[in-house]
Amino acid sequence: MKREFAVIGLGRFGGSICKELSMEGMEVLAIDNNEDRINEFKNIASHAVIVDSTDEASLKELGIKNIDHVIVAIGDDIQASILTTVILTDLGIKKITVKAQNDYHAKILNKIGADQVVHPERDMGKRIAHSIISNNILDYLELSDDHSIVEVKVGEKMLGKTLVELDIRANYGCNVVAIKHGKDINVSPSADHRFSEGDILIVIGADKDISRFEKHLVIEE
Ligand code: ATP
Repeated sequence: MKREFAVIGLGRFGGSICKELSMEGMEVLAIDNNEDRINEFKNIASHAVIVDSTDEASLKELGIKNIDHVIVAIGDDIQASILTTVILTDLGIKKITVKAQNDYHAKILNKIGADQVVHPERDMGKRIAHSIISNNILDYLELSDDHSIVEVKVGEKMLGKTLVELDIRANYGCNVVAIKHGKDINVSPSADHRFSEGDILIVIGADKDISRFEKHLVIEE
């Protein structure tokens, strides 16, 4: 059975989620209180309706209860975002993802029962900051407030050495969970893996440990 999604708020973020889900063949109900936005999405989403999502009766009328996953992408109007989320949790929606505007907003959304709180501007800012620190840092993904996963190019100081020789876990407190080389990916690499030009490491750990590891072995002066 096709999964059904609803996207509330068709700004740049919600609009892009709506477009991608539709392109992937998902059933998407697009909701916005702005008529122009709805007109823009009429031919993209399966259904597009002008509704103020803070109006519980209108949401019920739409049959939102039967939707598997609702994404709340209302940006500036934090009050409307919170109220919409409360209504959706009250209606017992299975999965609710909400875009947070700031940390306080995120805290409230977690408290009132949002299943997933996303912070696209902050997260993208962090990822870009990491990638501009060094060309060797390819990607950065936050797992919690103080743990992350990074994708880094093998540093010059690591070339020709094995994982056991570098002992990244003991020396820096983080773990190399996979090593990519071209199209090959070696998950849980063995201790005798010898680093060579072109290796890309996926490393998981506490931010402070990852930062030490990057400074000592990855970032080249
Ligand atoms: P982005 O950065 O993703 O473009 P934004 O921060 O500019 O988002 P807004 O423009 O504030 O976000 O809101 C996103 C959309 O949510 C807008 O199209 C707006 O019309 C819609 N929206 C705001 N309040 C409501 C509401 N109560 N009901 C339905 N849609 C709403």
